[in-house]
Amino acid sequence: MLFANRAREKRHGILLDHPLDDPQRCRNCDGACCRAFPRVALKWEEYLVLESLGARRLELSLSGAHHLLIENSCEFLADGRCAIYAHRPEICRRFYCTDLPPDG
Ligand code: SF4
Repeated sequence: MLFANRAREKRHGILLDHPLDDPQRCRNCDGACCRAFPRVALKWEEYLVLESLGARRLELSLSGAHHLLIENSCEFLADGRCAIYAHRPEICRRFYCTDLPPDG
């Protein structure tokens, strides 16, 4: 029931201009942002890192950004936490989720 209540909370996401590493921030959200987006854009180096970590839902592009497909839940989300936190893509590191509105 606690998770159902969390799903109804109004959340706001901001893409910061710098990475933010703070595992404490993400401890209680149950990976909401890791379920909410269809994909995460990857640089080629990040694609190779995720491939080496066993990613199965990678999308290779010859003409644009590569992607880690999320679609309902990222394959690296385990027990509501990122299982590859130290190696997660830059977009994941720059994403900031808050309960407050952007100007609040
Ligand atoms: S790589 Fe980690 S932080 Fe990024 S979407 Fe997947 S579980 Fe979430």
